[in-house]
Amino acid sequence: MRLAHTSSFRSHTPMRAAVRNLTPSLIREVANAGLGRDDVLPFWFGESDEVTPAFIREAAIASLERGETFYAHNLGLPELREAIAQYMSRLHPLVGVERIAVTAGGVNGLMIAMQALVDPGDEVVVLTPVWPNLTAQPLILGARLRCVPLVPAGEGGAQWQLDLDALCAAVTPATRLLVLNSPNNPTGWTLTAQEQQRLLEHCRRTGTWILADEVYERLYFCDDTATGAAPSFLDVAAPDDRLVVVHSFSKSFLMTGWRLGWLVLPAELTEQVGKLIEFNTSCNSVFTQRAGVVALQRTAEVTPRVVAHLRACRDALVPQLAALPGVHVAPAPGGMYAFFRIDGHGDSLAVAKRLVAEAGLGLAPGAAFAAESSAWLRWCFASRDISRLGEGVQRLAGWLGVR
Ligand code: PMP
Repeated sequence: MRLAHTSSFRSHTPMRAAVRNLTPSLIREVANAGLGRDDVLPFWFGESDEVTPAFIREAAIASLERGETFYAHNLGLPELREAIAQYMSRLHPLVGVERIAVTAGGVNGLMIAMQALVDPGDEVVVLTPVWPNLTAQPLILGARLRCVPLVPAGEGGAQWQLDLDALCAAVTPATRLLVLNSPNNPTGWTLTAQEQQRLLEHCRRTGTWILADEVYERLYFCDDTATGAAPSFLDVAAPDDRLVVVHSFSKSFLMTGWRLGWLVLPAELTEQVGKLIEFNTSCNSVFTQRAGVVALQRTAEVTPRVVAHLRACRDALVPQLAALPGVHVAPAPGGMYAFFRIDGHGDSLAVAKRLVAEAGLGLAPGAAFAAESSAWLRWCFASRDISRLGEGVQRLAGWLGVR
């Protein structure tokens, strides 16, 4: 017997509302407005314009030349997991290899962690403004999202600060997961060790998992920690705390396109996470992982230079921006972004599109990160040529009518 015609079937089986309701990336929307134009200075995406160092690329090429083109372990090559554990143990109290899972970039690591921890209907608390993937992923899994905003502080409200009491009040025994990104994209705001300690103790009491996105931990400019890295939950937590930390090769090793990252887990979760990796990506390509091993073994040849350069970029850009009338900005303690607002220009999506069209300047709209930052603009200052940042400021000044 033939079934009734499929059109009614289709109308009764729409795609999940959780997916249909996702907001498309507003950063992409602005970048699309500049498609096909080569006269736009692009500071909209969160990546450096510097190519991955040659010695890292050569490790991948050598692997391919050896014919390493097959499936690999779910949790990552043993050599890479070992190299990651050693690298993490240099920055933090001992992290054992049994706590490491290699993922396809930080973004896949975040999703895997959420798949492991979040059931449909669970409450997830997220501190905002934040990179939109961190709010989209719980929604895809059917979680209920509760956003707690950072609050503007400092001169002209140009800095962002944590209201720790408000965050603790929002995290209750009904909260399954607390998602934090520090150093923060887009604000640069960074948790202190004391704040981490208090949050950890609070979450121990409520039985809440912490998912700490620490992909920017090395991009920290404050000189107030022993290692130079930003304060980490790994420094205050015990190995069996309900804590998952997400890391990436993208930022500290100039490897955004490689899609390589890792999770630090309580050991009893690792095997379960291996199953999830099997059903998501199965594994990372071997040649990519070989490159990761070499990057970690020769960190000293990449990361300190990247961080010093980013600091110089920040210190070149922020004072120039701050000198423009009506612009409110403060130097970020970490990350790769200047986050600022301009008096009289409150609709960041409209402003960002106009800046592309009228000034050839590509920035990300603050509306992409939270409602409370919808008047703000994000400028990624990871530019190999620092003078291009000044060129961008000139374009902004011209657009604002500043002579
Ligand atoms: N977390 C944050 C806060 C980010 O900004 C990014 C990249 N923009 C990521 C995670 C993921 O990075 P990747 O997937 O390239 O490792």
